[in-house]
Order: sequence, then structure tokens, then C-alpha cells
Amino acid sequence: MKQEKCPMCENKPSRAELQNGMKISESFTIVDCDACGHRYTFFGDDVSEEEIYQDERYKVIDNRNSVFDRLLSFEYKRVVNEIVKRYHSDISVLDFGSGKGKFLSLCKAAGFSTKGVETSLPRANFARKHYHLEIDSDYYSKGTLDRAPFTAITSFHVLEHLSKPKELLANLVRDNLTPDGLVVIEVPNMDSWQSIWAGKSWLQLDVPRHINHFNKSSIISVVGAAGLRPTKISYFSFHVGLLGMLRTCLGLVGYKGDIIYTLKNKKSLPLYLLIALLLPLSTVLELIASLFGKGGIIRIYASAIAAGGNA
Ligand SMILES: [Zn+2]
Repeated sequence: MKQEKCPMCENKPSRAELQNGMKISESFTIVDCDACGHRYTFFGDDVSEEEIYQDERYKVIDNRNSVFDRLLSFEYKRVVNEIVKRYHSDISVLDFGSGKGKFLSLCKAAGFSTKGVETSLPRANFARKHYHLEIDSDYYSKGTLDRAPFTAITSFHVLEHLSKPKELLANLVRDNLTPDGLVVIEVPNMDSWQSIWAGKSWLQLDVPRHINHFNKSSIISVVGAAGLRPTKISYFSFHVGLLGMLRTCLGLVGYKGDIIYTLKNKKSLPLYLLIALLLPLSTVLELIASLFGKGGIIRIYASAIAAGGNA
């Protein structure tokens, strides 16, 4: 695959745009689209999709009952509660890019009927085996999925990976969401303090796997193109936002390692000590950042314009 034009408006960047971009390596440049303002990863050379996901960060491990897993549960339960608040009963949820099934397992426990879409087989199988979830592993680009329509469609950290995020969400919503349904999207926040402070070494830049680098206005435009409007936006996440800020702070004191790899694979006492030292500061900074819309993630709740509401 290549990415030679803007994923949002299909504009081809000029030589000047490419020169002004943020060069990550010989092959990858982060470009601000002149036509629509969207920030994305440009690469003219063919890149194997399979190869780029061989990265250690994407390795599937069983971390159920770890501290990280508990944080994730805490995080996702807040979303489950938001859905319950709106619909009370007969709730069905489609999680697009359902990963290892953590979010859907909590939906199931809350009594929702659930379905996941996950093209990574190791992840889909994990969700089937450990949480007994129904997961569709076929590649989705359009059309109605089995058991549609759903009360809610959720997608956590997926749209930044797609070369046509607007089209995909619009198709998903048009054919699979109930008329008064809710969509919940979460993506990294390019305008966050942790991103600005870390620059090229921001944890959530994740080039070339992240093609889109969203901010509030670009993610609202994706949601708008699907005929939805935001009803609530939040910016704080323990597992992604806090980890990102911690990595940014570690970077500011000179740490250059891969924090995810190190935490997953080896016990490093100096790193643990450094983390213990910086965690309180990172937490406070990330909480303040979130209050100003500058947290590491954007979580947007949106519903169809036709459904009304007073957001
Ligand atoms: Zn554009």
C-alpha cells in the first residue's frame, strides 16, 4: 500500500507541502493538507501492510487481570454507562475493530447483545476463545452486517489506521445503525499537549501504521460526513492518554526507549523507578490538559441529526 494523497479530500500534496512536512524517516512524511487542513502520513513507496503490523506493539499477549487490563475495564465501563444512560434496554453494540474483545466483553456483561469486526485473526480468536464473542473477521468496506441494525457502533483507535476513514464510517453508519443510534469514536489527539511537547517522538504518532492524525475539527468532519453530530466529546483516557503523557515526560528527561516493548517484555528496575517518579506529575498534567481539550485522545459521542437532541 501507498499513501500519496489526503485520506480526507484526496488532494495530492505539492512539492512544497511535502518539503514543509514533518519528516519521520526517509520514506515517511507527515503532511498538512493544503486543501482541507487534515494531517496525514505520506508515503510514496509501497509498504507491506502485513509487515508494518509485525511491530512488537501489536503483538497479542494475554494480559487479562494485569493492572493495564483493570485500567482498560475502568475506562470502557464509562462508555458502557453512557450507552445505558441513553437506551436503558434492548441494546445491541457493534464494535468495529474489536481487538481482543475487552470492550465487548464488558458490553456482554452489561446485558447487551454484541458483535465485533476484527480482521486480525490472532485478536479475533482471542476474543472468541476467552470471552465467547461473535466476531466477524472479514474485511469490511461497505454493506449491512449480520444482525444489523445496532443501537450503538463503537470504534476505538481504528480510524487513524484507515486510508478512507470518512467513507468507511459513513458506510458503516448508513447500513448498520438504528436511526436514533449512537456512535462512539476514539482516536489520538494530534493537538494534545503530549503530542506538541513530544513532537516526532510522540507515542501515538505511530508512523506508518497511523495514516490519519486527527484533531477535534477533523474528527468532527468525519462524523459529520456520516450524517452525525457530536453530542459529547471527552479527552481523558487512563490507558492511552496517561501512558502517552508518561512517555512524553520520560522523553523530556532523556528516555529514548520503547516503553510499550519494555513494559510488555522485560522487567527494568531503572525504568520502573523513573515511572514511579514521573507518574504523579504525568497524571496531573494529563488531567489539566484534558480540561482544556488537550488530552491525548478524543472520544466523541455522536448521533444522527434526524434524531434531534440538544447538543
Ligand atoms: Zn485534504
